[in-house]
Amino acid sequence: MFTIKGKTTDWELVIGLETHIEVLSNSKLFSGASADYNPTVAPNTQVSMIDVAMPGMLPVLNEFCVEQAIRMGLGLNAKISRKSKFARKQYFYPDLPQGYQISQPAEEPPIVGRGWIEILGDDGKPKKILIERAHLEQDAGKLKHDVHPTKSFADYNRTGVALLEIVTFLDTKNPENNSYITSPDEAERYLREIREIARALGVSKANMEEGSMRADVNVSVRPVGSKEFRTRTETKNMVSFKFIKSAIEYEARRQIEIYENGGTVSQDTMRYNQSEGTTSVMRSKEDALDYRYFPDPDLLPLEISEETIERIRKTMPELPAATRARYINMGLNEYDAARLTETTDISKWFDAAVGDKPARAKSIANWMISELFAHPENWDAKNAVDTADSGIARIITPANLAELVDMISANEVNGKQAKEIFIKMLDGELGTPKEIADKFGMKQITDTGAIEKVIDEIISANAAQVEQYKSGKVGLLGFFVGAVMKATAGKANPAVVNEILKKKLS
Ligand code: ADP
Ligand code: MG
Repeated sequence: MFTIKGKTTDWELVIGLETHIEVLSNSKLFSGASADYNPTVAPNTQVSMIDVAMPGMLPVLNEFCVEQAIRMGLGLNAKISRKSKFARKQYFYPDLPQGYQISQPAEEPPIVGRGWIEILGDDGKPKKILIERAHLEQDAGKLKHDVHPTKSFADYNRTGVALLEIVTFLDTKNPENNSYITSPDEAERYLREIREIARALGVSKANMEEGSMRADVNVSVRPVGSKEFRTRTETKNMVSFKFIKSAIEYEARRQIEIYENGGTVSQDTMRYNQSEGTTSVMRSKEDALDYRYFPDPDLLPLEISEETIERIRKTMPELPAATRARYINMGLNEYDAARLTETTDISKWFDAAVGDKPARAKSIANWMISELFAHPENWDAKNAVDTADSGIARIITPANLAELVDMISANEVNGKQAKEIFIKMLDGELGTPKEIADKFGMKQITDTGAIEKVIDEIISANAAQVEQYKSGKVGLLGFFVGAVMKATAGKANPAVVNEILKKKLS
């Protein structure tokens, strides 16, 4: 369990995330304007009368966005509400020309209800994280403060684009239910899992750098073993995994210090200061905004038929959790399965390398996790699978790693030689592993006669060690193996060497 050491007690963290993902769709949630607001699009060129709330304009719900929300809801193992409503959330800000955001009312069922996803917990075991809800709402525009020295500009291209807000659940009535996030690392894994589910489903690009995924981070602390949840704070609008982890840790330490000095934490909304890695109060509970939610009179309740839900369910691709289960079935452990499903590109690469030989799975996984992942500068799962890209990606292909692994199991090369071939590939040596092995004469010696001859020489040259071995110092076996390997320039098959040595020495 992740804890932070205090003066008199250790503290544990309770974390709740409200994650916004931008829904992929040609047009906006309630208008026909293009939802592609990428930075190359000129400001305010994709804005309809509806988006800027011209009098008399009526919003029309985009059916595709609704289907996207259902798809994501199914990906979150959630209950899809057969009936949900839209409400106006009022506040004034220049990036919100309507003066309100159309969202779904907090007190009533949103389009996506209670669900869960599975992540790798800090203890290395799968952990369920409960989802309370996910609702559809409009995004706001963007203010630009860096265009002019004294003026600010507003770009409404993003105004009205569909967002899906996914909120984690904290079972306050049932504190034994620990299916919530409890550490900065788990928060990151949760967000990555949400991202991969959204991408696998084509629901969102869910890219934090591009702003198509953002999170509000709720944090509270409590002494280890205590059962009550304490007051949390909410840090708004976080757009990087690194900052989110830093904000959680800073905020937890800040709260612990308050408690240790006899104070109380107030339920404030915080901002994160990137350059200092600190949080500070943006508004306190007393200034909490009253959004005066009320049902949007222009929109009917949203009704979804069971047939629609089932039709979408039938089109669901394999999601990361199912991929992990499949890998565990192939004999991988939970940690390996989690690493190999961090992105869909990685799991595709792995699947391509394993091909139709599940017996390879464990070795392929080992090579990928301990070797390829260690060289992110030389290897990119995406390039290798999707394109016949130039450079290393072209050399370390799934097919080449499969060939290398097969060469080891066929005793054509030993582990040490395989590693050398692999390093040559990393360094840009062209050719398949077999070609590289031929070129550099890396063939394993499995001919027992040849190995026996070397062993006999080594045994007669080391009479003293042989004596010691025979009188019980069996640890010396390693010395003999080493000597044989050295004499064969590392080419001997270590298993054969071991076997013959043991026989001859006994
Ligand atoms: P609000 O309506 O004020 O946004 P919610 O009840 O919707 O608050 O909760 C927002 C998020 O905060 C949820 O993910 C929830 O699990 C989390 N949360 C609620 N209470 C706590 C707490 N004591 N500590 C940490 N997180 C909490
Ligand atoms: Mg909320």
